[in-house]
Amino acid sequence: MLRIDMHVHTKYSRDSNITIEELIEVAKKLGLNGVAITDHDTLKGYKKAKKYVTDDFLIIPGIEWKTDKGEILGYFVYEPPKSRDLYEAVDQIKEQGGLVGIPHPFDIFRRSVNKHIYEIIDKIDFIEVLNGRCSSSIFNEKALKFSKTHNIPGVAGSDAHRIEEVALAYIEVKDLKDIKKKKILNINGRILKKRDIFIDFIRYVASRFPR
Ligand SMILES: [Zn+2]
Repeated sequence: MLRIDMHVHTKYSRDSNITIEELIEVAKKLGLNGVAITDHDTLKGYKKAKKYVTDDFLIIPGIEWKTDKGEILGYFVYEPPKSRDLYEAVDQIKEQGGLVGIPHPFDIFRRSVNKHIYEIIDKIDFIEVLNGRCSSSIFNEKALKFSKTHNIPGVAGSDAHRIEEVALAYIEVKDLKDIKKKKILNINGRILKKRDIFIDFIRYVASRFPR
């Protein structure tokens, strides 16, 4: 199985310090076969990174775009959308052949789309059902349930902003060609995660108190 982390940031996002070189190096070291670079509002990181694409290491051009109703994710995006209006931005990603999805849709501590998801439900191609940075697994579970209920494919990504977070969550697929053909959506792979920081933290705190 091939592993792809579908949501990573680079230093071209205002809140990340990951360089392209260390991203590629660490991703490969951790056994990833690809990443989607989804910087906030820019494709600069992807443009710098694309020279590292090989037959067995895929880099998907992506963007995490802030709209007036929360963040959206685009894959196979080559130009940032022009509008901050949720509906217009979704259309602008689709017009260039991109796929639109919702990152951490129900995380109340982030700029999430939340209930507005229903207004664009017919247009979205995927839902991030596992985000490595959700502070509680409850938000991810809700997203997974939503994707199943509405039959919308799910993806997983670390949302790494620091290098230690790369590969915290990823999808597994059989063939990179499927992804290149934008068939990510029939994920024939599984959605995995390495650890849950919040749960780890609770366990740690609990372990400090005698029973
Ligand atoms: Zn992100």
